[in-house]
Amino acid sequence: MSYEEYLERALERLPDIRREDERFVVPKPVVSIEGKTTILENFSSIADTLNRSEEHLMKYLLRELGTAGKIEGGRAIFQGRFQAEDIGEQINSYVEEYVLCSECGKPDTQLVKSDRILMLKCEACGAHRPVKKRKVVIEKMRKGLNKGDEVEVMIVSVGNRGDGIARYQNYTIFVPGAKKGELVKARIKKVSGTLAFAERI
Ligand SMILES: [Zn+2]
Repeated sequence: MSYEEYLERALERLPDIRREDERFVVPKPVVSIEGKTTILENFSSIADTLNRSEEHLMKYLLRELGTAGKIEGGRAIFQGRFQAEDIGEQINSYVEEYVLCSECGKPDTQLVKSDRILMLKCEACGAHRPVKKRKVVIEKMRKGLNKGDEVEVMIVSVGNRGDGIARYQNYTIFVPGAKKGELVKARIKKVSGTLAFAERI
């Protein structure tokens, strides 16, 4: 085991007391209307709580609300009049899509780019998934993995026989010929309990 791997494992075993105690609460949007614009007063603190960049959150809100706007002094200013509930709903969707881990439900995640694909990486459980509509993810989780399914997974380690190993939902997938750190498309050949065997496609 390399020193880095050793450190990584040691860190994984440390209990994270802070996370256990702090409940993740998204601040309620504080909204005011000024003329034909809507101002989200606590925009900056919301982005901060979500641990996402203001630009990324703003881009999402503008797209979902279908309007133009700008960030100014920690506030978000939208063209048009919007209810606090509408903005709150969009923020919740953003949280589901870009913040919460679909595996363990925790918000301790980071957005990382891998091969130009935006991935959500969970620091609590180590899950790694392409960012997608969470609804799609939930639907898939309900069905589980089946023979013939095609998945896109990140190879997180390599097994004794040299097969790439990926985690997907609660499955461990073996992908022969895939290297650690690679994002691969694979077709499931066999599922046995929570183990799945796949081939690259
Ligand atoms: Zn997780």
